[in-house]
Amino acid sequence: PFDVLIIGGGPAGASAAVYAARKGLRTGLVAERFGGQVMDTEGIENFISVKETDGPKLGAALEAHVRQYDVDIITSQRAKELFPAARPGGLHGVALESGAILHGRTVILATGAHWRHLGVPGEEEYRNKGVAYCPHCDGPFYKGKRVAVAGGGNSGVEAAIDLAGIVAHVTLLQRGSHLKADKVLQDKLYSLPNVTVLTEALTTRIEGNGKNVTGLTYRGGDGADHHVDLEGVFVQIGLLPNTGWLKGALKLTDFGEIVVDSHGATSVPGVFAAGDATTTPYKQIVIAIGGGATAALAAFDYLIRVPAT
Ligand code: FAD
Repeated sequence: PFDVLIIGGGPAGASAAVYAARKGLRTGLVAERFGGQVMDTEGIENFISVKETDGPKLGAALEAHVRQYDVDIITSQRAKELFPAARPGGLHGVALESGAILHGRTVILATGAHWRHLGVPGEEEYRNKGVAYCPHCDGPFYKGKRVAVAGGGNSGVEAAIDLAGIVAHVTLLQRGSHLKADKVLQDKLYSLPNVTVLTEALTTRIEGNGKNVTGLTYRGGDGADHHVDLEGVFVQIGLLPNTGWLKGALKLTDFGEIVVDSHGATSVPGVFAAGDATTTPYKQIVIAIGGGATAALAAFDYLIRVPAT
């Protein structure tokens, strides 16, 4: 068995692996795809101390750093079930879809999340070429341009407020008849001069010139198609944690986030979690990396305190 069994090879899992291995712990890491969401990212300009990089470069650097250490890396494998230890100090089991079962005295869950997609023509084709999911990450790339935000919940309205301070104009499209965001956010949104809010506006297509986004089409409440010229579309209809496989094994929120405390501890002693899959606010690379380090150090503390049973 491993001292620390990490599930996930994104920024959080990679960071946990380096920290665990540097404590001399027997460390295993299972990942469907090393690098995680980072691999889907074009420009990254907010990984502090690295002025500019891109996803594949950062993903490769994360993997190279983990491979400096004696970590058993198992890629292209999905975990499908967690079997928590019957008592503190016992072994936790993780079943893989291949049928194998791995054991760890501690487990660190770092399976990340994914943005819900609109599922309209043009969305995939223009991903990172005008279609974006993370305003904190990509907002500055649209300075002085026109963008849309699809989604009228808290994250959509927050994104529109954030972007309005950077871009020339924001069109917010909400499918239903009214915004779902908190009232204070709505008040703030409606006070901004460079924002247009469209309700009963269903985005049906993202258009481009083959290289970049040039506009979008939505179906209005009148049943007709309308066109908006713009350079960017931020899709904000939900960030879904990759935690379906953990249901029933430990405490998740209604949104499926793994509930963690300030040490990355979950509701199961000896099972820790980090990154976008957890309740830790603000889903960012630096934060996931910090969370991975916290979880690994907390796992170490657990191992030196709780005798093996
Ligand atoms: P993830 O990166 O999601 O990694 C999850 C890992 O778990 C992967 O290895 C995955 O294969 C694995 N996994 C999932 N389920 C299973 C399973 N059942 N079994 C085994 N393995 C599993 N953040 C920034 O700070 N700056 C940016 O510029 C930026 N740009 C972004 C652009 C895009 C398009 C996207 C999508 C995100 C961006 N982000 C950015 C957010 C950032 O990528 C995430 O916050 C970060 O990757 C989260 O790290 P994580 O390790 O928690 O999860």
